[in-house]
Amino acid sequence: MRVLLTGGSGFIAAHVLDILLQQGHSVVTTVRSQEKASKIAENHKQVGKDKLDFAIVEDIAQEGAFDKAVVSDPPFEAVIHTASPFHFNVTDVQKELLDPAIIGTTGILKSIKKSAPSVKRVVITSSFASIVNPYKGTWPEHTYSEADWNPISAEQAVENPANGYRASKTFAEKAAWEFVEQEKPNFSIATMCPPLVLGPIVHYLNSLDALNTSNQRIRDIMMGKAKDEIPATGTFIWVDVRDLALCHVLAIEKEEAANKRFFITTGYFSNREIADIISKNFPQYKDGLPSSSTPGGEYPKEGIFKVDNSNVVKTLGVKFRNLDDSITDTVKSLQAVGA
Ligand code: NDP
Repeated sequence: MRVLLTGGSGFIAAHVLDILLQQGHSVVTTVRSQEKASKIAENHKQVGKDKLDFAIVEDIAQEGAFDKAVVSDPPFEAVIHTASPFHFNVTDVQKELLDPAIIGTTGILKSIKKSAPSVKRVVITSSFASIVNPYKGTWPEHTYSEADWNPISAEQAVENPANGYRASKTFAEKAAWEFVEQEKPNFSIATMCPPLVLGPIVHYLNSLDALNTSNQRIRDIMMGKAKDEIPATGTFIWVDVRDLALCHVLAIEKEEAANKRFFITTGYFSNREIADIISKNFPQYKDGLPSSSTPGGEYPKEGIFKVDNSNVVKTLGVKFRNLDDSITDTVKSLQAVGA
């Protein structure tokens, strides 16, 4: 298939790109600068221009940002839209989080409808942020599934960056489903809703200082920041980036994925478990790691919500990696950039 992948410089997209190429697809990926395109090209030297090419889209929040990128010869059959800001270092939630997420999503759908009639499937990276109800806390009596929607309001969205990020994913995904319902385009969509994504980074796009948001806790634990107290875990559910990337590719390949929402999680983790795995497999970091008597990083005493990932297992047929393998591979990848 000929595939357009947005945000090819991102943590998740780098793995999506690798799997697309391994499966024999031909890919154009959007990045924000020629410098990023060159880094990716340099690290995929064995791949010809017919299999991997680039389009520069500097800011997905601009109206019509994707108008040119969706046009290709040969034409695209599928689009995977991963680009969206995922960090909390913002001063203007509307401009820096909400606009790129929402306008980025509706913008690419409009451009495809207008100028890329050959596209049959659009896969959108949403998030567990669009499923979770943050106002219910650990909610032990509840089972999260694709049926749940984050109830966050427009007013709550701009209260702080954490709300802003969760709202950006919720509103963007809702806007995508509304687009399909109202515009009845020639393509179907599938949305991917992962919680915390852990797993190896690609060395050519990263450094320890500029690490993607979701792996920062692993770097911090390795670097001794949890020695005296393990930070609170937060979401308690995760997925490995390679499993998530495979889900993205299967969602363009499988007819059954059409117009489905996928809650993609392996299951539970805690920051204490991450520290224990690093301690067991990498004794060189032991001095900076917490011990069994260090406080923090536990599961909540009252219990935790349950998760139903049966839709993704049944429809996409993925087998999930375990936490030990994921953390071990992530640590090795961080060592490659100097940890
Ligand atoms: P990254 O920060 O590594 O990737 C984000 C990508 O989006 C980068 O390529 C970035 O480009 C691009 N981007 C951000 N803002 C803009 C913009 N205004 N214009 C153009 N490009 C932009 O994060 P992840 O790979 O972790 O996240 C990818 C997707 O997955 C996001 O949609 C995120 O919300 C979602 N997600 C991630 C989770 C996780 O735990 N990692 C969990 C759930 C969902 P550049 O690097 O050049 O800024």
